[in-house]
Amino acid sequence: MGALRAQGIHSILTTFTDLHGVPKGKLVPLEALPDAVATGAGFAGPSIWGTGLPRMGARGEYFGRVVPESLRPLPFMPGVAHAVCDGFAGGEPLDTCSRQLLKHQLNRLRERGWTFHVGIEPEFFLMKQDPQGRWGVADAQDQLDKPSYDLKAIHRNFGFLDDMRRHLSALGFELQQMDHEDAIGQYEINYRHDEALAAADRYQLFKLTAHAVAQQHGATFSCMPKPLAGAPGSGLHFHVSLTDAQGRPVMADPAGALGLSTAGHQFAAGLIHHADALAALCAPTVNSYKRLASSASASGTTWSPVWKTVGDNNRTCLVRTVAGRIEWRLPDPSCNVYAALAATLAAGLDGIDRELPAPDACDEDLYQRQASGQPMPPHLPRDLHDALAALRSDAILCDDIGTAFCEQFLKLKQAEWDAYAQQVSDWELKSYADGF
Ligand code: GLU
Ligand code: MG
Ligand code: MG
Repeated sequence: MGALRAQGIHSILTTFTDLHGVPKGKLVPLEALPDAVATGAGFAGPSIWGTGLPRMGARGEYFGRVVPESLRPLPFMPGVAHAVCDGFAGGEPLDTCSRQLLKHQLNRLRERGWTFHVGIEPEFFLMKQDPQGRWGVADAQDQLDKPSYDLKAIHRNFGFLDDMRRHLSALGFELQQMDHEDAIGQYEINYRHDEALAAADRYQLFKLTAHAVAQQHGATFSCMPKPLAGAPGSGLHFHVSLTDAQGRPVMADPAGALGLSTAGHQFAAGLIHHADALAALCAPTVNSYKRLASSASASGTTWSPVWKTVGDNNRTCLVRTVAGRIEWRLPDPSCNVYAALAATLAAGLDGIDRELPAPDACDEDLYQRQASGQPMPPHLPRDLHDALAALRSDAILCDDIGTAFCEQFLKLKQAEWDAYAQQVSDWELKSYADGF
């Protein structure tokens, strides 16, 4: 505490992640830190999406226990240090806290002496609302038909990008690159991989930072997977690998097909085998399935991975292998990163444990194959409804991740689907109102 005070810190932003993956929290004075570590900062459970605390009665308290190693001064909130919290209730780790969920999976892995490494690749849009409240891309001059790597947009938005660089570097991120992606208003910022729990904590801090910096530049940092019809959407790809107790790669083998070892092929097979259920957790919004539609964009492919395939450096596959690493392309930025990682690991381990056979490698551009009218490999669920049904019926995955969490998640997301299914869109009115 003394060290923090010496750095001018007077408050701690204690944060946890709700079931939707949104960082939430409260400011507490520095003096309250020992208590926030030992007992936890208290939150009203029923006010938090998906804690499951309502089942414990209206007075259920959610305690966010500060993880001391996570404390970092926040460069964009002078005097405030950020802290990651673990969810507790009644003195016990809360089984509906997504961070606890990931820790549970990592404990299973530790029993084998293995470590899970993850590089998370955030794609996002910078958006804003016009005076009539309609959402659009924040940069009105961002209009190219093929905007990938556009440098003029980098110049125009350098204020945002450079503030991101400054703040993320101060927070300990090792930045690798920033670029304009395939859709107007879309960017990607890459930074170094980490052990899985640290990677998930870091991504939540990335979101917090991006929200704050975008706001300072008059824009909204948007994690919506597919804000623009007819243009590519945003993914949140996970580059995953495992090492054993000696630090040796478990899934890579330079001499093996696709650069993978037998365990690597089995891990990939687990992802493909559980893909429909994983979609519910990795692509968990109604809008996610607009990204995961196999129609090409105006500028060509969307690179969205909709067919359940594995391919070497093939961006049209759900699993892309790159130098012995597995890029899991299903997740999008509307996911709860802890839950999505926990489920990804559980599915991969199931593939290893059951020695699932390696899927056939796919080396063609699946968008081109589709355009030529040939039969296609199996497709991911077409909407959230079908993904939720797949999760509900995947007993192995639900059991491995945790049934209490899955129950809460399915309840919350089914309500989201039901609310959506009752909407009548502008497209429907335009097509049908005077159409028959
Ligand atoms: N934006 C694409 C997606 O929805 C991915 C593009 C890329 O591979 O960088 O996953
Ligand atoms: Mg990208
Ligand atoms: Mg990628």
